[in-house]
Amino acid sequence: MLIPKTMRKYCPHCGTYTEHSVSLYKAIPKRRALAKGQRRAERRRKGHGNKGRYSKKPITQIKTHAKVTKTGVLTLKCRQCGKSRHLSFGKRMNKLEMKRE
Ligand SMILES: [Zn+2]
Repeated sequence: MLIPKTMRKYCPHCGTYTEHSVSLYKAIPKRRALAKGQRRAERRRKGHGNKGRYSKKPITQIKTHAKVTKTGVLTLKCRQCGKSRHLSFGKRMNKLEMKRE
């Protein structure tokens, strides 16, 4: 699906319909490599044998392939007040691209 670069949407801060610049939202992965719990888990996973609860894989690493497609999320930024918000579709799609002009 092709997304236009600008959209005319309602801005809750301005209270009216204004021009918004559109970009694709991309989640930033959480990295806590030096957190205490993370260091402890790494230390206890070393060596041989069963490590009890440290033998388990974190939920974020367990991959499930129930769904192939993703729902896209857009970031809308108001051109008048500069506030931004997210807009998600209710539909799944294979590809989400910005329209080239
Ligand atoms: Zn606004």
